[in-house]
Amino acid sequence: MFIELVDALRCPVPHEESWLVASSTRMEARHIVDGLLGCPVCHAQYAVHNGVADFRREPVLALPGEPDPFLRGDAATSMRLAAFLGLSDALGFVVLLDEWGAQASALRELVETPILLVDPPAGRDGEPGISVVLSDGVPPLAAGAARATAIGDSSAERAAAAVRLTRVGGRLVGPARLAVPAGVREIARDDTLWVGEKEPERSPLVTLHVRRG
Ligand SMILES: [Zn+2]
Repeated sequence: MFIELVDALRCPVPHEESWLVASSTRMEARHIVDGLLGCPVCHAQYAVHNGVADFRREPVLALPGEPDPFLRGDAATSMRLAAFLGLSDALGFVVLLDEWGAQASALRELVETPILLVDPPAGRDGEPGISVVLSDGVPPLAAGAARATAIGDSSAERAAAAVRLTRVGGRLVGPARLAVPAGVREIARDDTLWVGEKEPERSPLVTLHVRRG
């Protein structure tokens, strides 16, 4: 868990939003390898082990299935991913949800952008440049925290959560068979993927007064 990403993490327990307090027993290249994340509001503690921050409160019932063949880690897919997500520099961080975690090592070869995996395929540890969190379904991240997000073959709720955690103007990529979620403007698509940009949220509080006469 990259120390600079800790600011973007949020306690998944429903209560007022709060940062988490990190402590570590083992660090490597500014990454917490082993340690704890504590919530100052509800006092929940989340363990970090082998670079993986575990936010799960529910017992784990099922192992993730086989990743889609086209989502397996390979140079061609990770190159498309880097281009679609616009990862041309080291600013911010990119979120790879679910089976996209299989691309993390290949993507890391190509880009300097810190990578955060949410619920990757089983057995994926964190390492310098690649942070990992496990969740009960809602990514434990602040709204608008990520510069770009790759959505796996997931539910509409999961896709909506992905939109929420991406900053306005940030890129999102998803599988072609997943509908482009609300709040995302499609830019391009091919047989397997679409790419879009997060639109500004419309504020219901803004009213335009038009003077007549
Ligand atoms: Zn809490």
